[in-house]
Amino acid sequence: MEDTSHLVSRHLVARMRGFGTTIFSEMSALAVRTGSINLGQGFPDTDGPAEVLDAAVEAIRAGYNQYPPGRGIPTLRQAIADHQHRYYGLSYDPDREVLVTAGATEAIAATILALCETGDEVVVLEPTYDSYSASIALAGAVMRPATLHHPDYRVDIDAVRAAVSPRTRLLLVNSPHNPTGRVLDRAELSAIADIAAERDLIVVTDEVYEHLAFDGEHIPMATLPGMRDRTITISSAGKTFSCTGWKIGWVCASPALIDAVGTTKQFLTYVNGAPFQHAIVAGLALPEARIEAIRTNLRDRRDQLHNGLMTAGLDVHPCQGTYFLTVDVASLGETDGLAFCRALAERIGVVGIPSSVFYLDPGPARSLVRFAFCKRPDVVDEAVRRLAALGRHTSSGRVRSPA
Ligand code: PMP
Ligand code: GLN
Repeated sequence: MEDTSHLVSRHLVARMRGFGTTIFSEMSALAVRTGSINLGQGFPDTDGPAEVLDAAVEAIRAGYNQYPPGRGIPTLRQAIADHQHRYYGLSYDPDREVLVTAGATEAIAATILALCETGDEVVVLEPTYDSYSASIALAGAVMRPATLHHPDYRVDIDAVRAAVSPRTRLLLVNSPHNPTGRVLDRAELSAIADIAAERDLIVVTDEVYEHLAFDGEHIPMATLPGMRDRTITISSAGKTFSCTGWKIGWVCASPALIDAVGTTKQFLTYVNGAPFQHAIVAGLALPEARIEAIRTNLRDRRDQLHNGLMTAGLDVHPCQGTYFLTVDVASLGETDGLAFCRALAERIGVVGIPSSVFYLDPGPARSLVRFAFCKRPDVVDEAVRRLAALGRHTSSGRVRSPA
């Protein structure tokens, strides 16, 4: 076979690999290969509401299988606008201020590509969801992290301010926050909004876990005074309706910003997911009580994993929202979460994600591991049972002799 690897863009691919973007696939493949319980990549192991699944099947049967309109089908754009109004009192024009994307991932990429020139800077709250760093690299822009320090992971507003420079274009925030599980409060969001106004910046807000805030209220950035037209709001159906494989996301913003992001999206995927767009219209029309039930169920799974791991003596951080909670494996004598996760499947048949992949420089976070709790109760129980055995093991994997 001829070696053509010298033709690959070393600059871009090396930067993106350096950000650890392949860890989710690596860990899911490891789980399959070893038959482990996969608490790594965040996806539920049960289907979402039957109405939503039925609507997808009906849409395929009804022939919605060709390219949908570039900005998304009108009924979905209307449903997204209605959702923003019903839950948050925000008004968006479905024709000019809403764009449907291939998941939140494409929305994030298209937004950064549309708004950043080479060398521009994007301030992010670190740890960051992994696609941020890769999308910033794709745009030739530079990521400036403001770190949320464990154990409380509150926004250090001085760090955000210090990260802003004359080259800053965007403040990229995420709440409820992956991987820490923090739900940012009004004071934190307002402080970020103040900096955006002072420095004339756009805030890009990733709210994919908007309906999965268990403790504390999810406050959309765009609802803060003066922020509606300075904010690009990104969300997705994947988490709310347990259909992460459908990749239906969306962007809400003022017309000029939607035009820019839509122009970029057009040349990334053009359009996506025609029948699934119809299904999400049905999802967004579900009564609020159904969304509440989804949240309550996940909150119970959070409690189940949290309490189980606490009882087993593991060092668990509190989680207010999302699919994830964090364990510090330093208390088990482990310093390297990546090596720990790579060995864990073989040791006890559980897969997690090393939190270090969410940092440019993990420092003391190197020993943190993220576990997903969006699984059936029996699966969470079994995972707890297996993880509890760790308390009896040394870092080399041998059973510790009783003291
Ligand atoms: N943002 C965050 C914070 C996430 O955890 C995820 C994970 N799915 C995404 C964006 C991507 O969402 P989607 O699957 O809709 O692309
Ligand atoms: N959002 C999910 C997670 O954080 C999936 C990530 C992915 O597959 N890229 O685990």
